[in-house]
Amino acid sequence: MNNRLIITNGRTMLPSGIETGRDVVCRGGRIEALPAAGRIVPEPGDRVIDAAGNYVAPGFIDMHVHGGGGHDFMDGTVEAFLGIAETHARYGTTAMVPTTLTGTEEELLNTFAVFREARERNRRGAQLLGLHLEGPYFSARQCGAQDPRYLQSPKPEVYERWLEASPDIIRWSAAPELEGATELGRELARRGILASVAHTDALCEEVEAAFEAGYTHMTHLYSAMSTVSRRNAYRYAGALEAAYLLDGMTVEIIADGVHLPRPLLQFVCKFKGADRTALCTDAMRAAGMPDGEYLLGSLANGQRVIVEDGVAKLPDRSAFAGSVATADRLVRTMIELAGVPLSDAVRMMTATPARILRIDDRKGAIREGCDADLVIFDQTIRIKTTISLGHVIYDIDGE
Ligand SMILES: [Zn+2]
Repeated sequence: MNNRLIITNGRTMLPSGIETGRDVVCRGGRIEALPAAGRIVPEPGDRVIDAAGNYVAPGFIDMHVHGGGGHDFMDGTVEAFLGIAETHARYGTTAMVPTTLTGTEEELLNTFAVFREARERNRRGAQLLGLHLEGPYFSARQCGAQDPRYLQSPKPEVYERWLEASPDIIRWSAAPELEGATELGRELARRGILASVAHTDALCEEVEAAFEAGYTHMTHLYSAMSTVSRRNAYRYAGALEAAYLLDGMTVEIIADGVHLPRPLLQFVCKFKGADRTALCTDAMRAAGMPDGEYLLGSLANGQRVIVEDGVAKLPDRSAFAGSVATADRLVRTMIELAGVPLSDAVRMMTATPARILRIDDRKGAIREGCDADLVIFDQTIRIKTTISLGHVIYDIDGE
């Protein structure tokens, strides 16, 4: 445990900027020091990684993900959890927030139990930070690919039961205009759980009120969300406009280059900014897999979707049904399609989600004392090495 991991010869992405000639020294799962290159002499037992001039960045944090590698978190098995965590580790993710879909209470409670066991057994995958419940409190008009059979309004006797059943819930996505949603938002805020506006048909004013109640984040901006509408000649702003009006509201975007076209990616960056916009994959089970037919949601109750053109679609192709993105692709898309500077694109996948999840005291930055979650990649964001808590969990040269 006292052996060190020393990363040398990299272009190190520090909070203050990119620096060459600075080593990253890790010990006991933490970043111990950031000395000038060569100043620390390796001792027997130390491991040295030569970054070979590639970027050394904080590990990617995916705050909204459902699956990958052929698995969905709703499959309800430890193997599925570990398979997803290991799949995304190959693409630079060191920490993720497993996300549930609307389903039966039985499925949900099983997922809570499986999460605990999987986190215990996870050795080679991205860290499982906590659970994100996406639904079942959604607007029927904005349910997207979520199964409408399970939609409901928040009732304290139900959500209190779920909150008591799992201490691991760290995020909950709900439509704030539903009856009971304000109380839910207050309860989540009281418990320190991130309340997020999602799958919503709310008016701007309703989201403004929800923000006051504790909803401080917006789930996959632009997707399954109301915008400007006209009702009897009068024009109304929607949830989308609230995201821009409220300075304190943070957002996340599925930056796979398909869900949002270039101008919208640029619009979000320009008006919300890299400090308040996180990138998330929202990936379903086909992430890291070939095109074809897959199930969205659990193996038992999932719905059939088609994966083609780098995205999952409903069989009639009327809507996207989740992404097949990986974190490296999101960063690459922001740089190559949206023209965002590398450091901003990386920040949106590291420091920003860490701050939104309130774990920025230990994650999301290369800083002394922070967790040794690191990723090494080249100019085109091809991942070379992924390091979680000081352990190499993926290396392109095989390990
Ligand atoms: Zn989702």
